[in-house]
Amino acid sequence: MCGIIGYTGEENSVPFVLEGIKNLEYRGYDSFGCALKNGNNIKIMKGAGRINKVVSDQNISSQIAETSIAHTRWATNGGVTSENAHPLVDCSGKIAVAHNGIIENFKELRDTLNSHSFVSETDTEVLPHMIEDEMANGKSFEDAVVSTAGKTKGFSSFIAIHSDNNNILAVKNGSPLVLGIKKNGTFVSSDVPSFLKHTNKVVYLFDGDVISVNKTGFKILKTLNPGKHKTREVKFSYNDIDKGDYKHFMLKEIMEQKDLISSLSSSDLSYLKDPAYLLSTAKKVYIVGSGSSFHVALITANLMRDFGRDATAIQPQDMYNYAKLITKDDVFILVSQSGETMDIIESLPLIKGNKKIGIINTEGSTLANSVDYFINVNAGHEKSVVATKTFTMSAIMAFLLAMFSVGQETEVVNDLKLLDINLYNVYVPSVYKIIKDSAAKIKKEKTLFFLGRGNDYVSALESALKMKEITYIHSEAIDSATFKHGPLALISKGIYSIALVSNRFKDLEINNLKEIKARNGKIIGISDENLEVFDVFIRSQPAGIFSFVPQAIISQMLAYYVSIAKRIDPDHPRNLAKAVTTK
Ligand code: GLU
Repeated sequence: MCGIIGYTGEENSVPFVLEGIKNLEYRGYDSFGCALKNGNNIKIMKGAGRINKVVSDQNISSQIAETSIAHTRWATNGGVTSENAHPLVDCSGKIAVAHNGIIENFKELRDTLNSHSFVSETDTEVLPHMIEDEMANGKSFEDAVVSTAGKTKGFSSFIAIHSDNNNILAVKNGSPLVLGIKKNGTFVSSDVPSFLKHTNKVVYLFDGDVISVNKTGFKILKTLNPGKHKTREVKFSYNDIDKGDYKHFMLKEIMEQKDLISSLSSSDLSYLKDPAYLLSTAKKVYIVGSGSSFHVALITANLMRDFGRDATAIQPQDMYNYAKLITKDDVFILVSQSGETMDIIESLPLIKGNKKIGIINTEGSTLANSVDYFINVNAGHEKSVVATKTFTMSAIMAFLLAMFSVGQETEVVNDLKLLDINLYNVYVPSVYKIIKDSAAKIKKEKTLFFLGRGNDYVSALESALKMKEITYIHSEAIDSATFKHGPLALISKGIYSIALVSNRFKDLEINNLKEIKARNGKIIGISDENLEVFDVFIRSQPAGIFSFVPQAIISQMLAYYVSIAKRIDPDHPRNLAKAVTTK
């Protein structure tokens, strides 16, 4: 995915889009570019590499422009080169486009544009040329964009400017777009935090929208949702998305979990009653997610089955395999940080007739708009590419919902309070120290194993994912019970395993860990009890059904400090982007 932003207003637009695009860098960061419009002239400045580098190499901050659009890229079509960086222009250089998504029929579209000269390998470049063609046939810029938008297939949103037009045209289809309405100007952007310093008044756009953005607001050129473009005030403030004194967003977000859990444990949860009732009527419950959200699905399905409910966790790419089993009485829980995960969005037609509950961190997102009940994870904006607070908060929300649906409101609220209290003992210097020491021990490892049973195995999956994402160490989660059925062959002297051990299967787990010790493997234990089999002990905390939360937080810190020890920037791991909007 990519980040796109445009601004037009009374003041110089350049600082607004440069500051804004930096706040979208979590969406992709292999190249940067902008189109700056003054009078009837559009200037393109772009290059491969991170935003700061391109901006300083080309001294873009010194530019002045009435209207600007900017783009931070995560390449899908065409390599990471300056030519492929957005914005891309038509033959005349009068039309500039910044695009987020993939135009699936771009080859066919390109075949209709033989008289045009193309300079990039991107799918995006067909857009300015198509608009140019439509205008050559007598259409206005606005009508040309409407018609171009109607001819593309696949999920993609874009913003376009024309040298003879004062507005920014915005097309939303799949990828997110939101307007920011400020006193003397208007933003259009992939995400709210990009302009939050200047306004908290937003208008979420809908798929199928073509909007003209001007200095005083916006005009709808085409929509499938008439009457729904209301201006709303978003709650979070710029401080929520600032790094503050932390060196990395990831560390800040790891730390924030304590307060998020505290405030959730004292908040009114009655809004969960209606979706919980729906869940209680389901014949079968499917919980769908990708990456960390799939781990939320796995652990929630475990919990529901413990209460006798028929619940299955699935990854969206496997939905086709369940299509013949799904009945109209089945309820779906869709878990997504961004609400834009393409794999889930693409699977929605398969469950058209089913009731859906979304556990999503992004209000106004495509998924949030597609469900019967939207449960806001309310973790605040997560800027680090790897999920930390959105994993724990989504899992907690899913547990609350599941427990409400089986009449266990009091029990789950009590466990949440226990978690809140016991977390104090995780966020303490003695725990940080042992985590840092452990990070120093494992930073040179080529392979790490993460072990657990039951919910501890799900914790192992999530912990291994964090470790591989930001340390590039091959990290594999294995169900301790299956270790002896093969993987044990990989253990030799000094190989580290990280064991996640909570109460339920402690004795069985100890037996498995002894098998590793007998082969001279080393064990870092994350547990609420110091077991003899551990070479290193990191104290987790018991928290009833939420015991996986302290484990997750400790594992996040461990991965963070290994990443730091290896001099990797944990906020920007290689090859990754925050929301996966490709198939
Ligand atoms: N398909 C466009 C490109 O490769 C945009 C990529 C995206 O939004 O992920 O440049």
